[in-house]
Amino acid sequence: MYFLSEMEHKLLIHKLLPTAREVGVNPELRGWNWHQAPLKPYYDEKAPMYAICSKYCPTDRDIYLSQVKKAKPQLNYDVTLGKILHGVVSDSLQALIGGEPIEFERWWENVRWEGLAGDREELKGKARLVWQYVTGLCHARTLQVASEQPYMARRDVLATSMPFLVEHKISGALLGLSDILSLDCYDYLHSIMFDLKVEAKREDWHRLSPVGYAMVFESVHEVPIDVCCTLYVSFKEGKVLVNKDLFFANNDLRSWWIEERDRKLEIIAQKKDPGTPNACGESCIYRKSCRGD
Ligand code: SF4
Repeated sequence: MYFLSEMEHKLLIHKLLPTAREVGVNPELRGWNWHQAPLKPYYDEKAPMYAICSKYCPTDRDIYLSQVKKAKPQLNYDVTLGKILHGVVSDSLQALIGGEPIEFERWWENVRWEGLAGDREELKGKARLVWQYVTGLCHARTLQVASEQPYMARRDVLATSMPFLVEHKISGALLGLSDILSLDCYDYLHSIMFDLKVEAKREDWHRLSPVGYAMVFESVHEVPIDVCCTLYVSFKEGKVLVNKDLFFANNDLRSWWIEERDRKLEIIAQKKDPGTPNACGESCIYRKSCRGD
């Protein structure tokens, strides 16, 4: 899932990394400068990464409802599919990286359905396709690495062929985020922060989340992360489609993330109801708490 194609490797090596080296990142926008402006948070309140980076609600009232009023979301099919596929990708990959693959059917039996919505057979079909996609790619990559290095230990083959920290737990407290964040994937050999989106139309603001995680990683581990990637998974005629937005985590994106964080932490800290817009999307998961319909 998180492997780069040949074309993406070319983009990384001949465009993104040279740009990152030439243009650079303003030192005050590196996560390790969390203790001074502009990264230093104004408020003591903490928020999850999805609240900082989400732009589903035009006025950010969803943040007020979820973080101040503690409203419960009503999950729809799309959100359920997203949750299940995040689980499929992380659990299948973690099992493979740990050297103890598990069977899809066994995994499916343990899905917890409380609060989830949608046709289970349809969801299962898509989950199985993604499971097969991930395990098939990983298997091929492991065989390739093992065939190139005859004296590599099994553990090293796995760590080199699948260089991914998946669902890595990290504290975002230094940047005003909750201290139990879980990032989708960090490729530690290529230093790329990934964020997974399911059946989503590409939007500029989708870049905020991996950039936020990159800065959190910089704040905790003090290593620079210059490249991020939003990975889009969708389906067409029974096939899994994977599309990647690979980009340089530049000053503009970092500043945009800080603006979002500051505005949303202000809503939370000051318990400020931003009000409703003229029109709301039908699929808003806080619609019931917000508008009562
Ligand atoms: S119903 Fe509208 S105003 Fe309320 S949270 Fe959803 S998008 Fe925002």
